[in-house]
Amino acid sequence: MLLVLLGAPGAGKGTQADVLTDQIGVAHVSSGDLLREHRANKTELGTQAQSYMDKGDLVPDDLVIKMVLGRLDQETDGAGVVLDGFPRTEPQAVALDAALAGKGIDCVLYVKVPEDELVQRLGGRYNCRSCSRPFPEEAAGSGTCPVCGGELYQREDDKPEAVKNRLKVYDEQTSPLINYYKGQGKLVEINGLQKVDEVTSDLLKSLETLATK
Ligand code: AMP
Repeated sequence: MLLVLLGAPGAGKGTQADVLTDQIGVAHVSSGDLLREHRANKTELGTQAQSYMDKGDLVPDDLVIKMVLGRLDQETDGAGVVLDGFPRTEPQAVALDAALAGKGIDCVLYVKVPEDELVQRLGGRYNCRSCSRPFPEEAAGSGTCPVCGGELYQREDDKPEAVKNRLKVYDEQTSPLINYYKGQGKLVEINGLQKVDEVTSDLLKSLETLATK
């Protein structure tokens, strides 16, 4: 099974992808996490990606496509994959379709959240350096991740100027994918303003419907 979680930065894609991993066993492949790993390991790709990421711009398609398709090639067994943060442009979606040849994506789960809510969520978001989980500002006071004990920090691209830019980039370059996947009959829209477990429940219901088709 290959699922894509589509939505703006701050819509909760990473959180929901982790839940899907726990509940249905799909591997969580996050392009943002892969890029941050490259940066932490100081690889050539990490160095190339750094300035784009810190400003909230997209890393060039050719670099990201190669990285994610290479990662998907390693996932040959297991329950499948949930892609989080990829594709983010039409050329990336086309490259993914081409790589999957006849098989294609099973479903695109679009988590929809209004922009004012996204600004609020991203501005007050802290992440764990070890497990990458996000936490709201209130939980960040201790400086320590309540789940794994790692250090909490504010991502460079969660600072106000970068947040503004990331939302603009999403509008211009990623939101056209909503119609791209609607056109393929693969898009399911989920209300991302609900509580985390309600969003999860809607996602799981959509997947059950898919399985009975
Ligand atoms: P994320 O953790 O998904 O919010 O991604 C953090 C940053 O990594 C983004 O703002 C981009 O700079 C870069 N990035 C992640 N995924 C992609 C992608 N599919 N295409 C281009 N850049 C990406």
